[in-house]
Amino acid sequence: MSIEEHRDDIETCFGTSCNFCERNCPVYKILRVKTYTSKGKNRAMLGLIDGHYDASMALAEVAFTCTLCGACDAHCALPNTERFIELRRKLVKEGLIRPEYDRSIESIKKTGDVFGRSIETSKIFEETADGDVPIYLGCQYKGEKNEVKLIIKVLDKMGIKAKITDDESCCGYIAHVLGYEDEMPEIVNKFKEAYPHDDFITLCPSCTMFTQEEMDLNSVHVIKHIHELIMSGKIELKDLDMDVTYHDPCDLGRKLGVIEEPREILKAMGVRVHEMENNKEFSMCCGAGGGMLITDPELVDDMSKERMKQAIDTGVDVLVTVCPTCESTLLTGSMLARKEYKKRVKVMSIWELLDEAVD
Ligand code: SF4
Ligand code: SF4
Repeated sequence: MSIEEHRDDIETCFGTSCNFCERNCPVYKILRVKTYTSKGKNRAMLGLIDGHYDASMALAEVAFTCTLCGACDAHCALPNTERFIELRRKLVKEGLIRPEYDRSIESIKKTGDVFGRSIETSKIFEETADGDVPIYLGCQYKGEKNEVKLIIKVLDKMGIKAKITDDESCCGYIAHVLGYEDEMPEIVNKFKEAYPHDDFITLCPSCTMFTQEEMDLNSVHVIKHIHELIMSGKIELKDLDMDVTYHDPCDLGRKLGVIEEPREILKAMGVRVHEMENNKEFSMCCGAGGGMLITDPELVDDMSKERMKQAIDTGVDVLVTVCPTCESTLLTGSMLARKEYKKRVKVMSIWELLDEAVD
């Protein structure tokens, strides 16, 4: 699809003055410049379609300064983020991109890992060789050896024998959101050759969303999988008697609709969830989506600090999440928010709580 084919939707947006998309746009919350909102991007695209200007690095700066979090979609009847990926595709094809994006894509093609780590360094899970439940780590978890060991341990206590292979390749999510359309077949083939499963469990929300929605595979996010087990009463959980807030990863919550499951798991452990101002479908992005860690790490820090301010405002001391990217981003946000607001909210993965609750 070309950007011209989005003209009707763009004109619909152009003809309204609703601006609902501004309400929860994390980029707009920090920069306060309307060009970066969904409406602003739609306007920029209309100018391009109508030939008022050519694609340029200035337009690329607007297109890539976006977490693709989908908060604008949640507030609007139009599917805006699909269109923003289309714009990125056009800019990539015209070479209007930062060299850092090219380097990430080359890393995936050469090593199967967006960070360029060799397969050898991720060869850490021989202990799952006898497992029978395929679990796909994804690039983000490959570097989180201790967290993955913890997840394997908790799953094992629940009777799930994980099988993790050391030759998996990036699913292609990051290439997709950066707009590298021509490179997708090679990256997806590499993934499928290295990981020839149709049914598997995923740990990362973005890998789950991409393998389900774009590849039509039967991947299931691990939280959804263990939620079924816990709700069926097959797993006994201790009462942790805690108060926390919960951060919805955009791809798991807003995009895949896995919103109540993590909350019900927390409740089953005796953990009371105090909601932040933006929650569930209208949650606020941690700041790291859409390739923003490459595009503008300082803006990511500001967005994550803003999210942690919302956590501070709930009055609890712990924020729980289930995404490796959100967790590391919000850890930085927590430190920044602590300096500014003199209050620390600890960022924890749900696996740390499950490890305590499951014998
Ligand atoms: S993107 Fe949607 S919510 Fe925002 S101004 Fe356009 S129509 Fe309204
Ligand atoms: S996807 Fe998120 S960051 Fe991008 S314009 Fe929409 S609300 Fe803003």
